[in-house]
Amino acid sequence: MNDTTAEQPAPRKLIIAIDGPAGAGKSTIASRLARKLGYVNLESGAMYRALALKAIERDVSFDDEASLVKLAEDSRIQLEPTVGGNRTLLDGRDVSARIRERDVTEAASRVSVHPAVRAWMVVHQRELGGGGGIVMEGRDIGTKVFPDADLKIFLDADPVVREQRRLQQQQAKGEVEASVAAELRERDRRDRTRSVSPLVAAPDAVVIDSTAMSEDDVLARVEDLAQKKLR
Ligand code: C5P
Repeated sequence: MNDTTAEQPAPRKLIIAIDGPAGAGKSTIASRLARKLGYVNLESGAMYRALALKAIERDVSFDDEASLVKLAEDSRIQLEPTVGGNRTLLDGRDVSARIRERDVTEAASRVSVHPAVRAWMVVHQRELGGGGGIVMEGRDIGTKVFPDADLKIFLDADPVVREQRRLQQQQAKGEVEASVAAELRERDRRDRTRSVSPLVAAPDAVVIDSTAMSEDDVLARVEDLAQKKLR
């Protein structure tokens, strides 16, 4: 008698990369997709933010690459996936809310331009996600962190729409910053023009322009792409 159940292969655990500029909707889509697939959602930007926070607290210059790397090496940065995003721990302290504040956002954009800082991050991001069953979002996941990812999405949207979305998110939190558009544009410019791992779609990424799409439409599209990879 054949025991066919014993021959069932274990389901593949994909590595899914979602890259794109700020305000394109990466975090929400990555977290919803991960939940649908029973995967873990990892926000790579939270690691840059945690390092930026430590630099602020230790008064380390955002331009001092060597000291920033030393700071990273002496730090414990942990991402704990939860339903609402990643809980971020810096040396055991929950900094999830603090790293979303404006000064840290600006600092993260500045510390992330340094090649040696990025190299340190990439090593740790590969450790976190290498086993598969993850949706990792960021700027260089499909190009640098996991160039062999099973599925790469580049999620984009018109800059004006991205600015409006950010503004709405801030208003929902009770913070209104008149300068949100200018800051977002400046972060974009830095991400796209840095010498190492600039923000760019991987050649084999599926580019989704979410300008005129609802969140549910984007989710349906990426879920469909993931299911095709699983088949
Ligand atoms: O994604 P998030 O806005 O949290 O990222 C914070 C900053 O970290 C970004 O502005 C970007 O400069 C940087 N970053 C990066 N590479 C990643 C993720 C984030 O350079 N993979």
